[in-house]
Amino acid sequence: MAIIGFIGLGNMGLPMARRLQEAGHEVRCFDVSAAALGRAEEAGLHTRSSAAAAVDGANVVITMLPSGPHVLEVLLAADLPLRDGALVIDCSTIDVGSCAAFHEALGKKRLATLDAPVSGGTTGAAAGTLTFMVGGSEAAFERAQDLLRAMGKTIVHAGAAGAGQAAKICNNMLAGISMLAVSEALALARRLGLDSRKFFEIASKSSGQCWALTSYAPEPGLVPTAPSNRAYEGGFASELMLKDLRLAQQAAITGQSPTPLGAAAAAMYAVHCANGRGRLDFSSIILLLDPSRAKEAA
Ligand code: NAD
Repeated sequence: MAIIGFIGLGNMGLPMARRLQEAGHEVRCFDVSAAALGRAEEAGLHTRSSAAAAVDGANVVITMLPSGPHVLEVLLAADLPLRDGALVIDCSTIDVGSCAAFHEALGKKRLATLDAPVSGGTTGAAAGTLTFMVGGSEAAFERAQDLLRAMGKTIVHAGAAGAGQAAKICNNMLAGISMLAVSEALALARRLGLDSRKFFEIASKSSGQCWALTSYAPEPGLVPTAPSNRAYEGGFASELMLKDLRLAQQAAITGQSPTPLGAAAAAMYAVHCANGRGRLDFSSIILLLDPSRAKEAA
């Protein structure tokens, strides 16, 4: 069993750390927020008073932090007592530049490193059903298998260092664009006097079929499990989708890859969040395209 230093006990980190502890690992946790530390203690986790204290003596370090600068601040801190040969796994969703920087800096110290961002949200984190997209060496990936299996159901080795983050931002850009496309079609269908259920029945069996329509429809009454049926509460917050769309744009600019639809999606989610809907599930973007639906959703 591993001794794990786990840093970042927010919405995702806390349930992930719990899964590891329940699997029998010794988990030593830290978060800068006193409230997060309090919640972790209530949940039966063992906390430490600093990142250094959590990491000291650990053979595995896991971070689940908001963004790239947070990850670099924690992992590249001069006084972080990383043990020789330790495995460091960053599960946060971060920019490709910070991801490359942490792999390079820790690789020079002969530590094994993986970027392993997740999909599946807080429900997946609590249930241990996350999808992990992993970047790093084959040897580091093999070492991480049991740990990732304690937190997730689908574990994919995407490729070399950085491949996990690349997969994550490309997938979420695709999800954001398709949600907008489905919302646009549903809004137009209604304006044309088409019954939404009839349109759904047709499009879900035609060339317009996609996950955003058939598993996560932004209009209530079409897919019973979709957040649209719960006034867009829960699910994947629009502000997190905006974060990921911006990370995709950053990567596209650096890599000179044309992503006009990704850029449009980022702009629309920015407006949506500025309208005060950042906490609603990302399928609520239909309210931006068809504001008349806002009253129905309330
Ligand atoms: P969160 O904001 O709830 O948690 C982040 C935690 O990190 C906070 O408790 C914060 O206090 C802590 N933190 C910040 N700086 C720190 C530092 N220097 N040292 C120690 N702790 C520090 O975020 P979250 O929802 O748990 O998401 C974490 C990561 O996972 C993000 O990168 C996010 O994009 C990604 N993600 C989130 C979801 C989701 O549904 N919430 C889904 C997939 C991926």
